Amino acid sequence: MKLRIVYDNEAKEGLESDWGFSCLIEAGKRILFDTGASGEILSRNMQRLGIRKEEIEIIVLSHEHWDHIGGLSAVLHQNVAVYVPGSFTKRTKKGIERKAAEVLEVSGPADIVPGVHTTGELGIGIKEQSLVLETKGGEGVVVLTGCAHPGLENILEAAKVFGELYGAVGGFHGFDKLKRLEELKMIVPCHCTVRKEEILRMYSEKAVRCEAGERIKI
Ligand SMILES: [Zn+2]
Ligand SMILES: [Zn+2]
Repeated sequence: MKLRIVYDNEAKEGLESDWGFSCLIEAGKRILFDTGASGEILSRNMQRLGIRKEEIEIIVLSHEHWDHIGGLSAVLHQNVAVYVPGSFTKRTKKGIERKAAEVLEVSGPADIVPGVHTTGELGIGIKEQSLVLETKGGEGVVVLTGCAHPGLENILEAAKVFGELYGAVGGFHGFDKLKRLEELKMIVPCHCTVRKEEILRMYSEKAVRCEAGERIKI
């Protein structure tokens, strides 16, 4: 399975950085996880990475914050299925329905395509879903988070129903139980991760700097 960071607070040369997150997953089908804050920046980064919106078959939205759904209108098209937490507002769901093939509401853990699962909605305040991706070699699962508002430790725990933990990629927000990351073999702290630099230093042998344009093979 291949991941490509499309939108992040940091970016490789030739791409734009901005507060937000989006990641393309190639898992037989092309899945876009979150859409960043700006449709214009998302479109330009996609263009530079050679990603056409028509090729995206599935969009998964982690949670209803602007820095994750703001770019959505730039990637919607009539053949795309969009997975959203069931708690999304009616207004947002209706808006997506008009421009997409279908809107699928997620509540509990579920399969998206073979090897790609959702944790389902987690959290009490801000509800958020994360993806759980099976590694090609069968070593375990990689968790892909938007902002990790429900707490990365809780998301990692929930992901265990799909396999042994292998890695975590995405926004970890205020996560500070850094020792908990010891059990992981791959760490890619992105976007809103407050302790990003510390994580990169602490786990230099297995942590990768997240930037728009970064490729991750799992
Ligand atoms: Zn958020
Ligand atoms: Zn965010």
